[in-house]
Amino acid sequence: MSNQAAATSKGIALWKQILIGMVAGCAVGVLFGESAAMLKPLGTLFINLIKMLIVPLVFCSLIVGVTSMKDPRKMGRIGGKAILLYLSTTAIAISIGLGMGTLFAPGVGINIATSEAAVAAKEAPTLVSTLLNMIPTNPVKALANGAILQIIVFALALGIALTLIGDKGKPAVQVFESLAEAMYKLTELVMKVAPFGIFGLMAWVSGTYGLEVLLPLAKVIFAVYVGCVIHVIVFYSGIISTLGKLSPVRYLKGVINPATVAFTTTSSSGTLPATIKASQEELGVSKGVSSFVLPLGATINMDGTALYQGVCALFIAQAFGIDLTMSQYLLIIMTSTLASIGTAGVPGGGLIMLSLVLTTVGLPMEGLAIVAGIDRILDMARTSVNVCGDMMVATLIGKSENELDETIYNSDKTVPVSEQAKA
Ligand code: ASP
Repeated sequence: MSNQAAATSKGIALWKQILIGMVAGCAVGVLFGESAAMLKPLGTLFINLIKMLIVPLVFCSLIVGVTSMKDPRKMGRIGGKAILLYLSTTAIAISIGLGMGTLFAPGVGINIATSEAAVAAKEAPTLVSTLLNMIPTNPVKALANGAILQIIVFALALGIALTLIGDKGKPAVQVFESLAEAMYKLTELVMKVAPFGIFGLMAWVSGTYGLEVLLPLAKVIFAVYVGCVIHVIVFYSGIISTLGKLSPVRYLKGVINPATVAFTTTSSSGTLPATIKASQEELGVSKGVSSFVLPLGATINMDGTALYQGVCALFIAQAFGIDLTMSQYLLIIMTSTLASIGTAGVPGGGLIMLSLVLTTVGLPMEGLAIVAGIDRILDMARTSVNVCGDMMVATLIGKSENELDETIYNSDKTVPVSEQAKA
């Protein structure tokens, strides 16, 4: 997974290429006006490629995520706590995102029309039927139809069953591990097409609707960043001091290093070594807890990504003039929370999952193109939050399991693991 960052370091980094694609697309759109719309198929190609990834990517990476929790008892308890905390904090993150999207209303007044949106908006299901429908009566049909919530439920169930049967489950787990790897690779390859796709979509958007469409993007960035800061400074610190009875300032100091690595690499998987090191040496979380909870978090806990999806889903709904119903809001919260489990901790992983949220809620996929151009800037903030969230949960679990060295936590110093072993 982490070789994606390395791969992009050859030649021009991907996010720069995407930015170039976006700017070039805008320029072509402005110069050629409506005739630039003939470039839209390039964008459709990219969108179709992304759609192609969703089902196998979510299915395989979710099974791998579940089966990676090995040692039964204590792991079961710690894993249970971690998953509960991961999911509930993610749901709160996306609520903050929706709050920011409502407050700053970045998409209001853009008015992009699409026939797809009008049809989709009417089809929003009620919450009860959504909940009931989450259980696939026929998993193969769910996979074939791309029914994401059903796929997630089935993948979780299958992952749990594979873990429960122990050795007998290993061959299947290995197959899913290898498929998941292949899907990460495929994602990386598809992302190489992104600059061209974005180019085509931006040429179409700016040629058809004018450049004014792009101005609200500054508002999207602002909304995501403010949301991220609130989530870390207010929410995480608040939990650390109320539930954990620990100093929030020390927590914030402890997360700075990995958060910076995450900000620059935009990969929580790539940041994992830094996250583990800081959790052990700065915050005093035990090796046992940190080496289990943090990799799990890097795979399934994406609060920043969920927050970003909240803002973007609202932005896209506003831009396309779609009024969301209450059950669609709840559906966004639920889908993003579950989708965050299947988000790969690699650059741009959240963008692909955004397409999943849009499809599930019935919002137009074209909105993805507008957001994609600034995705790197958003990715930097959300990946940092993802990592801070993992560390918050590791600290809290460490404390509750008596696996947190409070002398290290309170010492305000870095205590290398080698010295901890001696003590
Ligand atoms: N880049 C993020 C991460 O690695 C995932 C995302 O794109 O939201 O945590």
